[in-house]
Amino acid sequence: MIKRSYLISRVMGIPVRVHITLIILLIILTFSSGVFGMLYAVALFASVALHELGHSWVAIRKGCRVHEIMLLPIGGVAKMNNIPSRPRDELLMAAAGPLTSLLLAVFFGWLGQFAFFFISLRNVNLMLCLFNLIPCFPMDGGRIFRAFMTPRLGRLNATALAARIGRILAVAGGIFGLFDKDYILVIIAIFIYQAAGAEYRAVYMQQMSQDWFSAGQQDADVEVSPPPYARKAQPVWKKWSQKSNAFFNDLFKNWG
Ligand code: ZN
Repeated sequence: MIKRSYLISRVMGIPVRVHITLIILLIILTFSSGVFGMLYAVALFASVALHELGHSWVAIRKGCRVHEIMLLPIGGVAKMNNIPSRPRDELLMAAAGPLTSLLLAVFFGWLGQFAFFFISLRNVNLMLCLFNLIPCFPMDGGRIFRAFMTPRLGRLNATALAARIGRILAVAGGIFGLFDKDYILVIIAIFIYQAAGAEYRAVYMQQMSQDWFSAGQQDADVEVSPPPYARKAQPVWKKWSQKSNAFFNDLFKNWG
């Protein structure tokens, strides 16, 4: 039976799952870009998973429960029962993902002296760090922005402002993606736009229930980290697929 997602590992007690669409993508890649294209994609999604685990590590220490980490073609999603409500804790949790990516970039940069393959992974992790720091709520940069504004505006108003900026940036990114024929960027933009609204509503509902019953319900928050590979990794991807195709062409030529 075909399932919607497959458990690949359990890290810190968190199930890490791969969505069926990503598995299909990897299979297609193996046929279109060869083994190197597939290896590159696997390393990329392992980097995304580590980014999410960086967030989760802090979240667990701040008393949150992480249900699962799901890897999708548009990136990683850590599903949590709640986001730390203390601004300082949210800031730490949000910063932990980009920091993990930065450390991975340094590590792959060091490995890069041995093989060019690792240089492309260094670049993709650097991009993963910078892309997620864009203040486009609910991406990491937007969370850091909200945490920064909460003491000044209160949580609800800070979320409203962050979500508005997030939606404006998502629309801008989506339009740019359309003109640039970068359709993965368009899908990410739609996802971000939708997630910004959903999280604002969750905080709004929480606030209302707190006001009415003076005891808040847990909101179902989601931590998203879309990778930037859609854009910048394309040349690298193409380069590697050309290399691997040349490799297999040579192989078959020699056989023929
Ligand atoms: Zn992140």
